[in-house]
Formats: sequence, structure tokens, C-alpha cells
Amino acid sequence: MRGGKMLPTFDCRYHCMLAREDEREQLGHKPVKYHGKWPFWRVYGIQEPVAVALSALNLSMQFHGWLSFFILVYYKLPSMDKRTHYEYTGLWHIYGILSMNSWFWSAVFHSRDVELTEKLDYSSAVALLGFSLIIAILRAFNVRDEAARVMVAAPLIAFVTTHILYLNFYKLDYGLNMKVCVAMGVIQLLVWAIWAGVTRHPSRWKLWFVVVGGGLAMLLEIYDFPPYQGFVDAHALGHATTIPSTYLWWSFIRDDAEFRTSSLLKKIH
Ligand SMILES: [Zn+2]
Repeated sequence: MRGGKMLPTFDCRYHCMLAREDEREQLGHKPVKYHGKWPFWRVYGIQEPVAVALSALNLSMQFHGWLSFFILVYYKLPSMDKRTHYEYTGLWHIYGILSMNSWFWSAVFHSRDVELTEKLDYSSAVALLGFSLIIAILRAFNVRDEAARVMVAAPLIAFVTTHILYLNFYKLDYGLNMKVCVAMGVIQLLVWAIWAGVTRHPSRWKLWFVVVGGGLAMLLEIYDFPPYQGFVDAHALGHATTIPSTYLWWSFIRDDAEFRTSSLLKKIH
């Protein structure tokens, strides 16, 4: 992209697509996908303005959630020289960074869909999904021992890394990636749902909402529909459902930090 100009092939593809869609509409046909994507109306050169706005909103929700968690564990809850009592602080920091990274690249990808931005978006999403699976297992099974944590995380990190390398350097296989993401998504939703059912955690009800919200976002990702008025498709709607669940999710994490810290301190005294 020299001099801020779009690549000619890229722009032609867009106008060709819109012309084709116009023809199809006049003939009474339904929209079709082009290069695996629905036709969207661009706004100021942004390909999917609604998805970009929702990604930015998700990013700010994640930042807000992570920041409030940070303030809680380091400034409000008792700690022993800079170290928190809560055993999952470091893991939630990594989760926060991975999710903000993922929403950032989602916003970039939906503004300008080229090979590089697509790979960055997909890779970040897979990394986030893989890490949230690890954290689901570690938290639900209350794995606090460092060696046991490594035993759980190592094979999953190896798998996720291999998958990302495969997508980037061998083949960007949408079907395969969908299967991998749905598998990782379903397992972690099940882990949280079962745990929410058996635990006596005071904030377990928040988990229920997050599980339902996560399931809904996943269904929208699987059951694709063409964009309404050329703007909102299933994928964008999926990005909308994650906004309230993100709020509730970080609220659960903060409750968990308080709950664990207070029960640990009770044991000590
Ligand atoms: Zn997206």
C-alpha cells in the first residue's frame, strides 16, 4: 500500500462485487459470499464499520475490566509485598492482554481485509481461545501447583501453536479453523457450566450468564446469515453479544479474587 492508496486489485474486487450484487438484487436473488465474505457497504473506506465499532467497544470493555481487576488486586485487597494472595492474578493478566490484542486485530481486520490482517485476526483469536481453555481448566479444577499447571498448559500450548503455524504458513483453512475453535469453545463452556453447577462459589450465577452469552456468540459464528442492509451480519452480531458478557466476566473475576483472598486469609488467622 504505497502513498496511502489501496491496491488496485483490491478496490476493483470491491466495485465488481457491489455491481454483481446490484444485478443479483434486481433479479430477485439473495446475496452471495465473495472470497468467503459477505458483501458489505464501505463507510470512509472501512469495510465493515459495525464490526469495527463493536470490536473497539469490546476492546475498551476488556481494558476496563482488566484495569478494575488490576486496581482491586494491587490496591484494594491485602497483599504481601507486591504479591497478591489470589493465585490466578498472573493468568488473568495474560488473559487480559491476549483478549485486548485479539479485539485490536479484529478491529483492524474488519477495517481492511487483506491477507496479513486476516492472519493476525485469526491467529490472535485462536491464541485467546486456547489460553481461555487453559485458564478454564486450571480455575475449575483449582490447579494451584506450578508443576501441575505446566502439565495442563504444555500440551494445549503446543497444539494451539501448531495450529497457528499451520494457518499462517501452510494453509488458511477456514473449515478446519472453525472446527478447532468450536471444539476449544465448547469444551471451555462445558467446563465452566459444570463447575458453575457444582461449586458453592458466591458468584456462580455470573458464570451462567457468561456461558449462555458465549454459546450465543458461538452459534452466531456457525449459523452465518447475510448482512442486514449491507451492514450487520451474524459475525457482527456475535461481536455485540460479547460486550455484556465481557462486563459480567470481569465482574466474576473480581469476585473470585475477593472470594479466594478472604478464604485464604481466614485459613491463616
Ligand atoms: Zn470479527
